[in-house]
Amino acid sequence: MKQFAVIGNPIAHSKSPEIHSAFAAQFGITLQYERLLANIGQFDLFAHNFFEYGVGANVTVPFKEDALKFADELSDEARLAGAVNTLLRQNNLIKGDNTDGIGLVRDIRDNHNVSLTNQKILLLGAGGAAKGVVLPIAREKPHSITIANRTPQKAEQLARQFTDYTNTIATSFEALTTPFDIIINATSASLSGQKLPLNPALFTNQTFAYDMMYGAKPTAFMQLAQSQGSKAVDGLGMLVEQAAKSFEIWHQVKPDTRPIIQGLQAQRQK
Ligand code: NDP
Repeated sequence: MKQFAVIGNPIAHSKSPEIHSAFAAQFGITLQYERLLANIGQFDLFAHNFFEYGVGANVTVPFKEDALKFADELSDEARLAGAVNTLLRQNNLIKGDNTDGIGLVRDIRDNHNVSLTNQKILLLGAGGAAKGVVLPIAREKPHSITIANRTPQKAEQLARQFTDYTNTIATSFEALTTPFDIIINATSASLSGQKLPLNPALFTNQTFAYDMMYGAKPTAFMQLAQSQGSKAVDGLGMLVEQAAKSFEIWHQVKPDTRPIIQGLQAQRQK
């Protein structure tokens, strides 16, 4: 049986084994997909041992940069994101990819039917998640991507990195005063229940607000957006879509994500 895994620390919370097993069942594929806890600072040795027998691995916090260094070959998405979340062993080479950005784009565009083309997009945050989504968003040909971050220098660096791909603008939270079509929260503020210092005027009833975090309840960011009449969603669909893209890389078939997203939504309402 082909062996797959998600490697992280911590890892017990990961939904990836359930998601990949459900995808596999759609095609009658038999596989083993396990959660693996690696020690911090020992990713290389751990991944090397896994790929003695394993075919593919997802990599999550805090090892995405270690996985970038571990891979022999990188996709453009992984190289520009500076992070790898999907590894594949093929012809004795380890290929590294990053499916987070495609997962986000597919969730917004295909599941929520919101086009990114020609839209004024605001990306909040300049950490690992934000870096991973700029190229796939740029490929949708938006009007512009404005990047705002608590540490403005990081937003400037990220915006500069993508000037050849799209119209990027770097700014601080405080300088944001006018509305956007799409606002994506890629900060980890929601994880700790913190509020971002955002002007409510950024949101209108035409704005689509997306929080990459997912949980049982709407985040503070989603609540602010909803209070201004915006549609607001969380990142559960992105989680399933990035897994689907990894599945495609490993098995060359595209799973149907809808029943899995619906199942996870039903589970969290219990
Ligand atoms: P990082 O630690 O790499 O980056 C964190 C970012 O959040 C930085 O830009 C940081 O700003 C900012 N930040 C943190 N706290 C605050 C705060 N209180 N106020 C303002 N800004 C803040 O994290 P990641 O990029 O890896 O993850 C970000 C989020 O994306 C997480 O919530 C994660 O769960 C989610 N995510 C969801 C995925 C999905 O599939 N749905 C996939 C990947 C990530 P500064 O630079 O100033 O420190």
